[in-house]
Amino acid sequence: MGNGPARRAFGEAVIQLVSHPALAELHPTEPHVETRERLLALLDTFGIVEGRPAKREQIELCHEPAYLERLEALDAPTLLDPDTVASETSWEAALLAAGCSLAAVDRGGFALVRPPGHHALPDRAMGFCLLDNVAVAARYAQKELGAGRIAIVDWDVHHGNGTQQIFWEDDSVLFVSMHQWPLYPGSGGPGEGNETTVNVPLPAGSGDEDYLRAFKETVAPAVSGFDPELVLVSAGFDAHVDDPLAGMRVTANGFRELARATSALAPRLAAVLEGGYEPGTLPGLVQAALEGFQA
Ligand code: ZN
Repeated sequence: MGNGPARRAFGEAVIQLVSHPALAELHPTEPHVETRERLLALLDTFGIVEGRPAKREQIELCHEPAYLERLEALDAPTLLDPDTVASETSWEAALLAAGCSLAAVDRGGFALVRPPGHHALPDRAMGFCLLDNVAVAARYAQKELGAGRIAIVDWDVHHGNGTQQIFWEDDSVLFVSMHQWPLYPGSGGPGEGNETTVNVPLPAGSGDEDYLRAFKETVAPAVSGFDPELVLVSAGFDAHVDDPLAGMRVTANGFRELARATSALAPRLAAVLEGGYEPGTLPGLVQAALEGFQA
């Protein structure tokens, strides 16, 4: 673990960071952009609490058994979809990432995990994602912690189509996503939604002011109106101006303000890392979000 300025700042933090060093090694993807370097950069910056693997029955609240059996049985690197590679140990990584997300709910913390989750569908991997960590966390909070209504706020630059699908017919979970559109995976466009699914598509080039305006006009009223007991954040940082995968212009200050605005809506809050593909900037963006969550 490093001892940079962010580490000292974390020493005063209320929010605990849950992760595990094995998440770097159990899911080898090189030369993929969703690389172990993302996690190593975070572990080098922050002190963490180590999470444990989720149990299979906790995962089965969101994913179909036949898909989980296929993941567990992989015995060689395999392309599960055009963007998503998995190896013989990726199942262990996915269970650990989901388990860290559950621990983040327990602690009101922030799970720093990979692989990310919000594109994963009930029956298949998609878009770098194997298991939908934030969805598993929401069902865990309801089933094992007695939470009622939960809001998931997803500010990753891509639409959280997996999370949307899992909760599409579940009116106990509000899903709100702000994302660049059109962009991968293509869903989440204007007019796509229902009573408890709210999409906020934003044009390429949107920056801090655009995001904060959309948050104030659409996200905040939706979440307040839903009156959740718990807010979970799909915290992706790929809307950052320097991110290689998208075309947004959000800065560290923008993520700090988004986190602050989200925290203001939440009686209880936990966050789960999604995207953010520039390992050099990712720790500073996580730090900014931590400052906002604690403000
Ligand atoms: Zn993303």
